Amino acid sequence: MAKIDFPFLPQPEPVRSLLLAASDVLGQLNETSRQVLLDALKPFERITTQVVESPEHPVCKQCGSALVRGYCVDSTCLYSDWTQDIPRELPERYSAKDVEALTGRAKRIRVRAEVHSDDRAMEVVVDDVAAWFEEARPEDVLALDAHDWGGCEAADDVALFFARQGIAGMHDENPALAALFAYVRGRRSMGFECQVDAGQAMAWLRRWRPMLALAIQCQVHGVKFSRATVKDTSGQPVERWSWTCDHVITQGGLYVTLDDAARQAAVVLGLRQTPRAGASSD
Ligand SMILES: [Zn+2]
Repeated sequence: MAKIDFPFLPQPEPVRSLLLAASDVLGQLNETSRQVLLDALKPFERITTQVVESPEHPVCKQCGSALVRGYCVDSTCLYSDWTQDIPRELPERYSAKDVEALTGRAKRIRVRAEVHSDDRAMEVVVDDVAAWFEEARPEDVLALDAHDWGGCEAADDVALFFARQGIAGMHDENPALAALFAYVRGRRSMGFECQVDAGQAMAWLRRWRPMLALAIQCQVHGVKFSRATVKDTSGQPVERWSWTCDHVITQGGLYVTLDDAARQAAVVLGLRQTPRAGASSD
């Protein structure tokens, strides 16, 4: 097997040699040994993740296409799933799980959404709306789940997010979506609807906002979260989260964050936080 170059790795040389050797044998090990080796490499993750999206690559180093949020816009290019600092050979030769373990980098998890005008004359599939989930308020994501991930105000906001004029290279401004909104605006009493892929959204949340994923898991089991302004001990108004559930007696309490409320609700309901979703496919 040919040696793999790790150009993104800073020196020192010993770490580099170790990772090179590891990548060579990884494919030949059984699952147990593989896990032992990957665990042993964990301390080096800090070193391998130091490199951020490289400003010297404003375009994809593989195919020359534009980068949006660090990903190549050409969906056939491997860098549409990986950031530019990953050596090409790694995703070509190893499973996504191994590449993630070796580099500390995560394979992109796409969240697709479908948007259509009320009359369905215009239908657009948006390849990845994960950017919305990065910035969304927790209550909006909870509302999206409560409305089966579509046809609600939060879902509308997902579509509108990508129609906004954003910072260059940050927003995936979708020309097809812009055309759809132009069509809708041009017709009296015409609206639109957006449906987000629930499975993909949950996979993304479990990876990047795991406590919000846990809160949704609680919500699926009948928990209702709410945020209200209450007075603290000194009489100052503060915002607190609370939760209720018809199925359990023990409940209540006020929490500073939704995370805390979700954690407590999950304990009472006996729900376990699902492990971080790894790369879903190779
Ligand atoms: Zn590319």
